[in-house]
Amino acid sequence: MSKEQQDFFSRPQEEQDAFLSQTWCNECMEADLGMTDPEEYILDGNRYVEGKCKRCGTSIVTELVDEDI
Ligand SMILES: [Zn+2]
Repeated sequence: MSKEQQDFFSRPQEEQDAFLSQTWCNECMEADLGMTDPEEYILDGNRYVEGKCKRCGTSIVTELVDEDI
């Protein structure tokens, strides 16, 4: 499996803001805490944004579906 890096920061600002705020953290068990250090990539044909939970720092991954983009 190879990760294909994408440039998250080439997205429009409002999309970046949306992805960075609409999160789910498995540690906090809470939605929309926000994330930092976003990294976008494609893995096995699926697109993901990975970052760190703003509250606890756990790595969180959001899978992007076409409707979101
Ligand atoms: Zn958290």
